[in-house]
This record gives sequence, structure tokens and C-alpha cells, in this order.
Amino acid sequence: MKLTNSPRLNKTLYDMDIHSYYDVLFHIPRKYEFHNLTDESTPLKDKDKVIVIAKLIAEPVALPSYKAKKTFFRVHTKKNEYNVLAYNQSYLEHTLKLDTSYILEGEYNQKSDNIILSRISEGESYLNHIEPLYSLPSSLKQFEYVRLVKKAFNELEGKIYTQVPPTLLSKYHLITKEIALSNVHFPQSVDDIRSGLLYLKYEEALSFSTKNKLIREENNQLSKIFSNYIEEKDIEKFIRTLPFKLTLDQQSAISEIIDDMNSSSLMYRLLQGDVGSGKTIVAFIALYANYLRGEQGVLLAPTETLARQHYENMLSIFSETKVNIKLLTGSLETEERRNILDDLRDGTIDILVGTHSLFSKSTVYSHLGLVIVDEQHRFGVNQRSALVDKGKEVDLLMMSATPIPRTLAQTILSDLSVSTLTTFPKRKRAVKTKLMKDEKKIFTKVQELLDNHQKVYVVAPVIDSDIEVDNNKALYERYTKAFPNLVSQLNGRMTSQEQEAALEAFKSGSTPILVATQVVELGIDVGDASCIIIYGSRRLGLSSLHQLRGRVGRNGQEAYCYLYIGKDYTDEEVTRLKYLTLIEDGFTLAELDLASRGPGELSGLRQSGLPDFKYLNVINDVKIFQSANKDADLILQNRDKDKGYSYYIERLEREIDYEGDIPKS
Ligand code: ADP
Ligand code: MG
Repeated sequence: MKLTNSPRLNKTLYDMDIHSYYDVLFHIPRKYEFHNLTDESTPLKDKDKVIVIAKLIAEPVALPSYKAKKTFFRVHTKKNEYNVLAYNQSYLEHTLKLDTSYILEGEYNQKSDNIILSRISEGESYLNHIEPLYSLPSSLKQFEYVRLVKKAFNELEGKIYTQVPPTLLSKYHLITKEIALSNVHFPQSVDDIRSGLLYLKYEEALSFSTKNKLIREENNQLSKIFSNYIEEKDIEKFIRTLPFKLTLDQQSAISEIIDDMNSSSLMYRLLQGDVGSGKTIVAFIALYANYLRGEQGVLLAPTETLARQHYENMLSIFSETKVNIKLLTGSLETEERRNILDDLRDGTIDILVGTHSLFSKSTVYSHLGLVIVDEQHRFGVNQRSALVDKGKEVDLLMMSATPIPRTLAQTILSDLSVSTLTTFPKRKRAVKTKLMKDEKKIFTKVQELLDNHQKVYVVAPVIDSDIEVDNNKALYERYTKAFPNLVSQLNGRMTSQEQEAALEAFKSGSTPILVATQVVELGIDVGDASCIIIYGSRRLGLSSLHQLRGRVGRNGQEAYCYLYIGKDYTDEEVTRLKYLTLIEDGFTLAELDLASRGPGELSGLRQSGLPDFKYLNVINDVKIFQSANKDADLILQNRDKDKGYSYYIERLEREIDYEGDIPKS
């Protein structure tokens, strides 16, 4: 659908995932600016910011010029007259009209007695001095978006459906969705913003809660008729063949999972535990149990590197068994791929490890019984359900390295069962964490570690404003300069072969320093890495940082984490980061993230696999979630008594079906 006549704008909108006029309206302002009109009773001084409501006295005149094109015009307000000068806006000559009120914004220049124009607009919202600011790519201007929003309202008049059932709408005195959207885009007052957001957030929370409950309800009705019972003693026999003894946490997670698999309803469980807590072996045992009951299982990983690592690991763990394991990734040769798909379809393959290919159309399973999703936040709900839909009765286990704070899990994900690993099987001591202001000192530490044959990660997971320092390329170059021939680089723009090669060089020790630009690639397990240096840390949540430092010292050796503190880090930012030097436990750090509401607190949560909400903020809107949760129960209980409820449910069920059909990739 073409939203505008400009191919450039259409492309930009497409990239923003805006495909319809509805999408335009659902992209609400990121924040608002409150403008106050300039007090005109005192004379303007040089460099004063000026905001006035003005009308043109005469048509604008554009002066030809080799340099900046200048447009002059003269306006009057209720009190004064002003000369205005606009640079490089010659279109104003044809667009500004006489007898029209404009909001005019600029800076006063005393020498030339001009207002240098920064912006001029007709917008009514603006007349009330609350200006919405949208988060937009640089190729799309605020005023262009505002224009589009107006167009969208015109196109959709009377077509914006208020989803919240009438009974609940009146219970909370909510406004309709159309008014809510109009309020947030063109607020006349702070109250407008509040009431508009309240509707949108509540609608989102209610739909999220009700959908979860509907899915859960459906799963509970789907009793497993075909699955065989898994005998505990068979599992124990297998566990005795492992090269290590399981921790108590691992043992109880396994019993919880086996209980789920043996129960008549489908498993819907999250296995959470810090990096290094040993989730992988738990997943393997679940896959083995699934094999014993005669079904196929898959392990879905977000990257090829991780998938391969799991695959190799699995081959060794299952070497004494008859389990047939294969790896399916995007980079397979056609021939090999076809063989795997054939073997999968006729049931020869017992366990398939892989990436996105696992749920592509051509991948057909003969009797899929268990899906395990590693680093589950990397996949959307749709992708998970696309995979689960590949079988008749599929148990689902998701794994996440970022702990979701308990309070949040209870309110938001109330329908999910959770197993948690809190102990570390191998790690004997905490990763020593230090804040470092001087990069030279960091280099000295790195040198010491290299002298002791240790390996070092360097990561700049986000680009910070301290761009010189944290820019990934610059970082790689600086480290290469300091440690010639000892650095390799890993980032998402490299092909998987290149990534493989970089990782191999790091593992083998030929380049003991790895500058990794993407957090995710660090899901890799290199046991003898002993140090991680993190740039741009102020932009990350404490839990994310904690997760990163968990990548080192995995063989139980002494390990270090250095957080580079840039010159422009504020005291507040440093204080927050200091917690990492004092606290070792990921749960406490997650709770602190929640409490601090500082920068990056959400990035950590995003990793934890909480869904991305459009309007809701999982930290500030807990109350809304709680009400919505209760209301969702109410809706399900009273669906036969309230037409609005039954209609609401029908609608959501259609949405659930629809979403399941189209995996997002
Ligand atoms: P994560 O939870 O981060 O995925 P892994 O499953 O990769 O952690 O486990 C981290 C390391 O600990 C691996 O090398 C794994 O083989 C090892 N490990 C797992 N469980 C145990 C255990 N019970 N005893 C000793 N080592 C273990
Ligand atoms: Mg893992």
C-alpha cells in the first residue's frame, strides 16, 4: 500500500514497519515538548529564542545567492512586527500564505534585527504549545510525519475500532480508541496525553493477558493421547553416563520438565539461569527423554555458531546412544539439505539442531514432540508457534539467560511455568569486576593476561555518544595497534564462514583477543576466556552486563571484567555501574535494574524474553498489567453472559490463528 506519493518516504515508512494508515497512527510520539510563547512585552535580546503566533504582512521574497538561499518575510503578531530570515527554505516563497496564523520559531539576531527561522508551522496542536516528538529516522522529518498522521486520521475516520469491551470501557471510564489516538497525537492538555495513553496501554495489556489465557486454555484441553510415558529410571541411567554430576538445580529442573512431558497437557515452560548455569545439559536430557518416548525433538538456536556448538556438544554427550542427530542451517549444500529433510520426514532423524531453517515451510517432521528454543528472546511468539505447529502435540521449553525478576514474571507472565538454575556448576569464584577510566591501564592488564596465555573478549555492544572510544571499528583498530596480529573480530556483518574462522582463531589461541561487536555472538562457550572488557556500558542494564561478564572464567579460573568509563560518564552512571563490582548475583542485579529505571534498564529485560510492548512499559505499568490480568479472567468466566466479552474473545482467537500462520523473520 502506498502511503504517500513520495517513493523516498514510502521506503522509509516501510523500513519503520509502517505499512498502513493504522500503523501510522499506532506509531505514537516518543515524547512531548511544551512550548511557551515568547513574552513580547519586553524587547528581544540577541540570541533570544523566539516563539510567536504571527501572520504575514507581505509575500515572502527569495534572494538568489551562491551560498545559502535566503528567504525574507515580515510578520506581525498581536503586539509587534518582525523581519524573518530563512536559510535554504526557498519553498516558503510559494507555501506561506497571507492571512494565515503561523507558529513561528527561531532565534533573534540583534545585528540584522531579524528572527532567524528554525521552524514555521500551521499545526493546531502546536497552537496549544504541546508538540509531539516522534522517534523517526533522519530521512523523515517531524513535520512530514505529522502531516501523514493527519492524513491517516482523515482516511480512517469512523474506522478505528475500540477493542476493549464496553463493560470494561465504562468500568474504567476509558475513552474510545479513536479519541485516545487523537489525544496522544494532538494533545490539547496533559490530561489528553494521560487519558489517551491509558486507553492504549490498557487495550494492549488486556489483549496480551487474554490471549495468553486463551492459548493456555487451548493447550490444557489438548491432552496428549499419543505420547508414551517416560520412565524416570531410564533418565537416571542416562544421567549416570554424563562426564559430570548434575547440580541440585539441574536435577529439579529436569524433574519439572519430565513431569510436564508426562502430564496430559502440553508443556509451556521457561528454563532460566545465568550464563554458565548449565542449561544446555538440561535441554539435552529433555531431548533424550523425548527420544525415549519415541518422538522427534528440535533445538533451535539464534545463530549458526551456537547451533553448531550445540550439535557438536550433543554428538559427544550422545555418543554411547543410538540417537540420530543432525544439524540444519542455512548454509548447507542443497544435496545435504535434501537428505536431511528426507530423513526428517520419514522419521529417521531423532533430534534436529539448527537455526531458522527449522521452521521454514519445506521442513516437515514425521512426529515432532518437543521444541526447545535457546536464547528465546531472539525469536518472536510467531516463530515459536510456527515451530510448535509442525507437530500435533508439541511440548515447548524456552531457555533464557537473563532472569526475569520474580515480581514481573508473576504479573506479566502468569501463565508460564518457570524453572530456575541459580548455582554454577563450574565457577568457583566471582568474576572480578572493575571500572576503568584509563585505556592504557586496560592494555597493561591485557598484556599481563596474554603473558599468562589467557584469552580476552573486547565488546562494545552498543554505540555510545563517546563515539571515538566505543565505535566498533575504531576499537578493533586500536586493539590491533596495541597488540599486532593477536586480535580478531566478530560481527554480524561477517559471513558465517568468516565468523567461524574468527572464532576458531580465538579458540585455538592464535588470536587470543576477540573484538566482538555483537552481544549475541557471545553465546559461544570458550572455557579458557578469562577477561572481558566492555565499552559503552552505561547504555546497558546491569543484568545485561552481568550476562556479558558471565562469558569468562567458565572453566573455574580466575576471571576479570573491566568496564571502560568514558570521560563523559556522569556520576550517576558510574554509581549505577559500581553495583556490578559489589554484587555477584544476577537476580539481585535484575531487581536493581527494575528499581533504578536508569538507562538501559529495559535492554536487559528485553533480553529476558519479555515481549516487546508497543505502549506498555513493563516497569512502570505493573498496575495496568495487574488489572488487565484480573479482567482477562473475568472475560473468560463471563463470556456467555456478556456479548461484548464473547465478541472480544472471538476476535482475539482470530488474531492468534493469524499470527501463528505467518512467522516473522
Ligand atoms: P548456559 O546455561 O550458559 O547455557 P552451559 O549449559 O553452556 O551454560 O554450561 C556451561 C558449562 O558448564 C559447560 O561447559 C557445561 O559443560 C558445564 N556444565 C554444565 N553442567 C555441569 C555440571 N553439573 N558440572 C560440571 N560442569 C557442568
Ligand atoms: Mg547457553
